[in-house]
Amino acid sequence: MVGLRFDLRDTPPGSATLRAELRAFLAEQGKDWGPMERGYSWMGFDRAFSREVGKRGWIGMTWPEAYGGAGRTALERYVVLEEMLAVGAPVGAHWIGDRQSGPLILRLGTEEQRREFIPRIVSGELAFAIGLSEPDSGSDLASLRTRAEKVPGGWKVNGRKVWTTNAHRCDFAITLLRTSPAPDPRAKHQGLSQFLIDLRASGLTIRPILDLVGEEGFNELTFDDVFVPDSLVVGEIGKGWEQATAELAIERAGPERYLSSLPLLTAALEDLRAEPAAAEMVGRLIARAGTLRQMSLAVAGMLQDGQTPAREAALVKDVGNDFEQALPERLRDLLMPGRTPPEVLEMQRIMTMVGRSYSLRGGTREILRGIIARQLGLR
Ligand SMILES: Cc1cc2nc3c(=O)[nH]c(=O)nc-3n(C[C@H](O)[C@H](O)[C@H](O)COP(=O)(O)OP(=O)(O)OC[C@H]3O[C@@H](n4cnc5c(N)ncnc54)[C@H](O)[C@@H]3O)c2cc1C
Repeated sequence: MVGLRFDLRDTPPGSATLRAELRAFLAEQGKDWGPMERGYSWMGFDRAFSREVGKRGWIGMTWPEAYGGAGRTALERYVVLEEMLAVGAPVGAHWIGDRQSGPLILRLGTEEQRREFIPRIVSGELAFAIGLSEPDSGSDLASLRTRAEKVPGGWKVNGRKVWTTNAHRCDFAITLLRTSPAPDPRAKHQGLSQFLIDLRASGLTIRPILDLVGEEGFNELTFDDVFVPDSLVVGEIGKGWEQATAELAIERAGPERYLSSLPLLTAALEDLRAEPAAAEMVGRLIARAGTLRQMSLAVAGMLQDGQTPAREAALVKDVGNDFEQALPERLRDLLMPGRTPPEVLEMQRIMTMVGRSYSLRGGTREILRGIIARQLGLR
């Protein structure tokens, strides 16, 4: 395909041992996970589980040992991610810190921030949320209006954020805020900056929002003169747009963009043996998962080589979201009340509803296709 590269990669030699350790660990930890936990996949939040993951060195695996990281490769980390996703482990308390807040702090944070935050992310102690979207700024993120004004010793924040996943359970959010007015509407990407915000700061109100399943998955955040010290500015004032878009490329790159529904297929397989019409559909789904895995591994390989595969990541997310949304829909035709175990039916029901969000979170389908088209020179 013109301008796109998906070089075949494989998980590293020796990963079979790591995989076996993970499977034993997850079998033990997951004994009591029900359809809700598995159906919620990487939005599920369980601090005790995340601390156990941290103890085994599976958070911040690729980060420098000086900050508590394990100095391992991106492809070894990939093995950990896919094993966790394949069983629907409730990874939400460490997922965002491991995936994007930690890497951002390592890359652009001050030495003080690295020493303060990184070891606590690695141990599974600190949970991060993402503070980008606002009531009138989603896809058009640069139009955001929540502002930080300079005051002695720090910044005063006023405005609102919305859809902030798990903010009511997290410790910090990396937020994108306006620190100076855009010189004109076409230059709205200027004047934005990133801040680490303590989610227990005075003046900050967090209101959970019920989702379709009836869970408090995300929130609305209202900032009323919230003070943020200078020590919690991330990177450079005014460079927030460049910083946040690099972060988004990483956010879109992982196997969570196609594996969210896979636990349902695994859970349903035994039941589907009794359904003659299932073989062809299951075969198709597994073939799609295999192709997506190769594409996703290629992206992980490019990250490991120090590249920024923004368009390849956007493509995997777009095609992957189709797959993870289609899976519960396809299985609905094959599962049968009375024959299929109730917990599998319940997981299918939850994933059908949660699945609506897959092609919104992290960038909508239309936005991703716009990125791909632009990067291929088609628009
Ligand atoms: C489950 C879930 C979790 C989320 N978690 C977080 C979080 O933790 N932190 C956070 O900051 N945000 C989060 N979000 C918000 C998410 O990033 C936004 O929903 C997303 O960016 C879309 O923005 P919007 O909802 O304002 O929709 P809009 O931007 O208003 O889009 C509405 C529709 O118009 C289309 N559209 C918009 N612009 C264009 C265009 N230029 N061309 C073509 N079509 C267009 C979109 O594709 C979409 O179909 C989450 C969302 C979900 C569903």
